[in-house]
Amino acid sequence: MPEERPADPVSDPRRKAAAVARRVRLALEAEGRAGLTAVPRARKRAAAGESPAAPASGSEKNAYAATDSDAEAEAAEVEAAIEAANSPASAPPEEQAAAALREDLMKQVRAASVETDLFGFASPDLAEGISHAEALARIAAEVAQCDRCPELCKGRTKTVPGQGDPNAKLVFVGEGPGQEEDRQGLAFVGRAGELLTKMIESIGLTRDQVFICNIVKCRPPSNRTPMPDEMANCMPYLARQLEILKPKVLCALGGTAAKALLQTDDGITRLRGRFHPYRGVPLMPTFHPAYVLRSYTPDTRKKVYDDLLKVRATLDA
Ligand code: SF4
Repeated sequence: MPEERPADPVSDPRRKAAAVARRVRLALEAEGRAGLTAVPRARKRAAAGESPAAPASGSEKNAYAATDSDAEAEAAEVEAAIEAANSPASAPPEEQAAAALREDLMKQVRAASVETDLFGFASPDLAEGISHAEALARIAAEVAQCDRCPELCKGRTKTVPGQGDPNAKLVFVGEGPGQEEDRQGLAFVGRAGELLTKMIESIGLTRDQVFICNIVKCRPPSNRTPMPDEMANCMPYLARQLEILKPKVLCALGGTAAKALLQTDDGITRLRGRFHPYRGVPLMPTFHPAYVLRSYTPDTRKKVYDDLLKVRATLDA
């Protein structure tokens, strides 16, 4: 968390707003003592270049004209101060640069997920005529050097770019590496990984026939959910992996992966059980194996199996 900077007593918009509120309260109390029982509606602010509307009478002008313009000027000043305080331009330069990079990356991810069909998109990573395996290995090498997320780089043992068949027709995408994955540098190798292996085998496939990876390639501390900026930093790697693989079907494991890929706020319970388009590829969200382990009921297992049967049917179609 960035350290909170102390508010400047002169330019702090909250203090200015409080001062205006105090003055308005005192003015209303004074008007009340003078017999004012209702506050007139504010007149529409004149458009630029237009003369202000004439007051209904001279007395109204005397009573309110000066007050209106003072209040408007003060309100405008407070608005401007608040806007300036909220503006990214008021952040330190390094925060501005990081925010701009994140925004740029998310624009690329959004544009890619909405506009470009994976099958109509020639992967720049394959431009030199190299194989899928070589292109994926290059991305893994970039990931190993990556330092976009300071907290994740500091805590990681190994990066976990993902592994499997470089020509896989089915790709599983989880949220991020856990402790065992971080130790081995391989995706889904802990207890949840063992269950994923069983899930894959339940539809007549083996791990070697699919590709398995995550939204973020470094383990978040204490297995916490990756932060939005960490996902934004890392998703371009995943997008490039998928552009190389061009899978026939995608399976998102858990709500975090599904939401990140589909750019939605809907939860996994709502999303699972049906396909959603990801760049022209049918994507099936289902429960994360770690959740299935925690909630190992016939109902949860049946739901996951039903989702996987739909994946298999689409692969075979
Ligand atoms: S999570 Fe991804 S973007 Fe962040 S440091 Fe690791 S590889 Fe880089």
